[in-house]
Amino acid sequence: MSIEDNVKTVLDRIAAAAQRAGREPSAIKLVVVTKTVDVARIREAVEAGALILGENRVQEAKEKIEMLGPVASWHLIGHLQTNKAKYAVRLFYLIHSVDSIELAREIDRQAAKIGKVQDILIEVSIAGEESKAGAAIEQTAGLVREAAKLGHLSLKGLMTIPPFLDDPERVRPYFRKLRELSEAIARERIPGVSLKELSMGMSNDFEVAIEEGATMVRVGTAIFGERR
Ligand SMILES: *Cc1c(COP(=O)(O)O)cnc(C)c1O
Repeated sequence: MSIEDNVKTVLDRIAAAAQRAGREPSAIKLVVVTKTVDVARIREAVEAGALILGENRVQEAKEKIEMLGPVASWHLIGHLQTNKAKYAVRLFYLIHSVDSIELAREIDRQAAKIGKVQDILIEVSIAGEESKAGAAIEQTAGLVREAAKLGHLSLKGLMTIPPFLDDPERVRPYFRKLRELSEAIARERIPGVSLKELSMGMSNDFEVAIEEGATMVRVGTAIFGERR
């Protein structure tokens, strides 16, 4: 299967999962994850209809963006170190991985310098695994409230990376939990905050994530094959 075929297959599977869940296929955005993928193969994905590209690392993304130009909207999906925030605000349309108020403040400060309002998601450690990035569930509402006060940030929703489990049905409870958390925070009606986006679901489980309300799925392997 070519990259082009894979992109089309994933888009079809997204549409089918949306329909099963009684949702509009257009309500779900595909983030094509391009970490470790070279620019020639990324270009193939773009030509096949990829509109959003997701990278894990600022430096790797910067090199690719310089080579490819503005062919798509770039999202940062990997952990961001505070000292790289100044590059991130220049490169990314959406940062999925904000998990502390210190990082939120630094992104706000750097965005202010370049006159930008940076769209962000709050990353939540939904299974409470110590080793994983993400804000603790109990801290998320507080983090949203604090980040909402920052003038150069716009909070769009939540993101999570649940535990990797072979059977996607076993991941479903984590996706559901992120949706319920998002709904609970939305009920607080925090000024300036609209938690519309739920970034959840990867190659192995994006259909289940869509059934549980994902608005963005992040898919790499199902498009480019196993990473080397
Ligand atoms: C690598 C990565 C993905 C894509 O995972 P696949 O299983 O290859 O689809 C999604 N989200 C994040 C944060 C990643 O680091």
